[in-house]
Amino acid sequence: MRLVRVGEVPPEVLEFLAWTLSEDGVFALAEGEPLAVADFAYDVGRDQWNALLLLDALHTRLDEAGGKLLGIAGFDLFLPIMTHVYGAAETGGAAAILSTYRLRPEYTGGPPDADLFLSRCRKEALHELGHTLGLVHCRNSACVMSFSSAVEAGDLKRMSTAGARRRLGKGLA
Ligand SMILES: [Zn+2]
Repeated sequence: MRLVRVGEVPPEVLEFLAWTLSEDGVFALAEGEPLAVADFAYDVGRDQWNALLLLDALHTRLDEAGGKLLGIAGFDLFLPIMTHVYGAAETGGAAAILSTYRLRPEYTGGPPDADLFLSRCRKEALHELGHTLGLVHCRNSACVMSFSSAVEAGDLKRMSTAGARRRLGKGLA
């Protein structure tokens, strides 16, 4: 899997994900070249970026060798049917994207906490990667594939996708 910055993202976030995902059995390579954010994905009325359009744009960075591509964005994402999303992915497809925007504890008024922030990035990356492998949402709130509309609910997730993988007979790596 390749990690691609979408707009401005601190390089240490990509470096952390490349390192921690390998701990989870996912070989991840951080690409130096960011995806330039095109104005077309920005919605003026919502002051957010359309995740579907960004997934399309990520396809221009796929290579013939195949593999997955995870975009890392620092701005707020939305899907047309939702107020905001932490990420989006093509189920069983090649492209996924996550946003770090709402994952920082400061966003909900908490004190800065780099460990908590990076742990949320890791879970969100695994969640979106799981979708590209065909995994759907899991009803077990401790599963990394469970759906969470509030970031604190995501903190209850463990790193494991064992429950979802058992149901589908699929592996993450
Ligand atoms: Zn999901």
